[in-house]
Amino acid sequence: MKTLAPIILALLLLAGALRAADTLRAGAATSNITPELDSKIVGGFVPFPASGVHDELHARCLVLDDGKTKIALVVCDLLGFHRSVSIEARRLIEEATGIPPSHVAISATHTHSAASALGDSRYTSEQPLDDYQRFVARRIADGVRRAVNTLRPAEIAFGSAEAPEHVFNRRWFMKEGTVPPNPFGTVDKVKMNPPSGNANLVEPAGPTDPTISFIALREPGGRLISVYSAYSLHYVGGVGSGDISADYYGMYCAALAKLQSATEYDPPFVAMMANGTSGDVNNINFRTPRPSAPAYVQMRKVAEDVAEKVSAALSKVEWKERAELDARFRELELAWRPIDPDLLAWAKDKTAHPAPGASKADLSIIYADRVQRLAEAKNPARIPLQFLRIGDIGIGTFPCETFAETGLAFKKRSPFAHSFMVELNHGYFGYLPTPRHFPLGGYETWPGTNSLEPQAAVKMLDALLEMAAETAPKSK
Ligand SMILES: [Zn+2]
Repeated sequence: MKTLAPIILALLLLAGALRAADTLRAGAATSNITPELDSKIVGGFVPFPASGVHDELHARCLVLDDGKTKIALVVCDLLGFHRSVSIEARRLIEEATGIPPSHVAISATHTHSAASALGDSRYTSEQPLDDYQRFVARRIADGVRRAVNTLRPAEIAFGSAEAPEHVFNRRWFMKEGTVPPNPFGTVDKVKMNPPSGNANLVEPAGPTDPTISFIALREPGGRLISVYSAYSLHYVGGVGSGDISADYYGMYCAALAKLQSATEYDPPFVAMMANGTSGDVNNINFRTPRPSAPAYVQMRKVAEDVAEKVSAALSKVEWKERAELDARFRELELAWRPIDPDLLAWAKDKTAHPAPGASKADLSIIYADRVQRLAEAKNPARIPLQFLRIGDIGIGTFPCETFAETGLAFKKRSPFAHSFMVELNHGYFGYLPTPRHFPLGGYETWPGTNSLEPQAAVKMLDALLEMAAETAPKSK
């Protein structure tokens, strides 16, 4: 008997190790990425210096480990960031934690009150990083390292809530002859952000996606670790003049922590709100005149309501001890938006002979410049696509301002029981209308706002679904 004791002990240790090996662990942390004052705020057509900070900007980081595979999810309070920022952040993350670049998702919320991490050109796949971009990459990597430091046993749940009242398609058909000319001097069939409550509005040109999807992690039977959520709302806006702010995304995170009585947790509870597919969806109800509100009132209203809905849904989720993790990453080579010679000639002429008294904010001058830069873009554009599998949850990502209908199509065609998309992941490649929108025109389709070939949305979605299928279990 004596001789068997060490063997029994070894077997017990092995069984324990095996159990630990397939138990899910999760850790989360936030990094402050607030820029310096006087940095240029980039949400509008003409950047202006930041003179205040209403609320700090963060990179919110979540790391999951199923015992075999680790993945990291990061959401940054930025309008967007260049592909090169994500490459640098993921290089630093791999160096520090061993998590490969294919298994790290980094997206931007699309807050319009942040400094630029886009660099000096949107129409290039590579660029050297400026000081702020380097800072953001480093802070993202710090956040993921700190999330790894807090990895602990976790249970996971998927949930969703409906919030149709905050999302409106912003592209509208208007009565014949009532759409004003676009910056190119022609007339579109569809107007982006038409005047609210206007008698000439006919109907929206596309759907909205009203669903908030979320993934919750908690210590077994206990405290919340993180809630990663996604909702298809462009942003809310209505900030104080010159203010840096994370918009409703940041307020949602604070509100959810409060509703869950999780503000004092140590390690801290980390809520996250990624942008779903909201390229054509905003918070303005165009059917009625828009009431004006003091700064921050509307975004707080949306943030608190969305947090209440998620908080209520959290009480009904089914917690699981395990979730198999997997990831696919692929770079699709696509053409930049082709610019026809007539348009290029128009653009050159506009730059050479601006209308007398035209300002820097004149859209035809802005688009004349964008068209010329786009015409010089070096093909191919390298488009990062990523798919993450978390148990029976599938997250697909695009590096573009993606239309709601694309996100809805992904949900329908995905082989996973619970699926949703996150946009502005791993880079910024402009607006991504589906092909049917190009003949309709409107802001999102203009060359310079849109920067990829018109078939891009179709090619990207097909590739993403192929990647989803590679990781999928046999039946849905
Ligand atoms: Zn946008």
